[in-house]
Amino acid sequence: MTEIKLVFDEPKQRVKPPVHFADLDPGARKTRAVELGIPAFRANQMAVHFFTHFNDETETWSDIPKDLRETLAKEFVPKLITLVRSVTTDSGKTRKDLWRLHDGVLVESVLMRYSDRTTVCISSQAGCGMNCPFCATGQAGLTRNLTAGEITAQVVAAARICAAGELPGGETRLSNVVFMGMGEPMANYNSVMRSIRNITTAQPDGLGISARSVTLSTVGLVNGIEKLCDEGIPVTLAVSLHTPDDELRDTLVPINSRWKVREVLAAADKYEAKTGRRYSIEYALIRDINDQAWRADLL
Ligand code: SF4
Repeated sequence: MTEIKLVFDEPKQRVKPPVHFADLDPGARKTRAVELGIPAFRANQMAVHFFTHFNDETETWSDIPKDLRETLAKEFVPKLITLVRSVTTDSGKTRKDLWRLHDGVLVESVLMRYSDRTTVCISSQAGCGMNCPFCATGQAGLTRNLTAGEITAQVVAAARICAAGELPGGETRLSNVVFMGMGEPMANYNSVMRSIRNITTAQPDGLGISARSVTLSTVGLVNGIEKLCDEGIPVTLAVSLHTPDDELRDTLVPINSRWKVREVLAAADKYEAKTGRRYSIEYALIRDINDQAWRADLL
């Protein structure tokens, strides 16, 4: 059998994305401000604008002197994502946004309004190195990891759309975030964790969305699940299993050649024991491939 290539490291980049406020933890935001000769309290003001009002248009930040706004725009709030187009369905309650990043790379997020919640599904990488044969993103390979700022920016954009009443049904609050868009979140661990802290930290230093309402989906990078056990953030873990037997999973989800079903589930069990959070199993039914009753019985 030919070995399917897995890519864990992003290709060397020509130009790194600019550093953004959301790449830094609250302490580092203040430190960077002071290094730039800006009083530390300005970091709090920026946090209120960005995480409470979902506003990254520094020219409208009227509590900050005009001449400082330009510096903040350059040093803390560079434009990381630009909307290319939106496609809506379900009478506008589901909206897929295509974003262009600073280097022209494109990623998608999907915002979905339900009767009891509003969820955004975000991308953590441009492309993906996990090479699952049924997935269009995987076939394109890994272009690069997204920064914490780029991941967070997708969530802040969704929160802004909700607060502005742009979804049918009027103003609402973004309540859930799922890492199920482009990319394998565990393969971009540090940026994903910084963005999860931005999402779950109470306002003004974060968006104040409950960790329980954040779902991190993985195809089974056991080293990532084990690290997550020690983060102290009880997000909901979802394991994309797609089949319970190693024989098929080795081809359907090539990371299975590194970590077998038993190891992935053991790591998920450990996460559940440590956090008290039940994990979920994801299973994309593919006709005549993984939809046999005996496979269901193995679950
Ligand atoms: S890990 Fe997810 S995004 Fe990556 S190739 Fe597999 S299914 Fe696609």
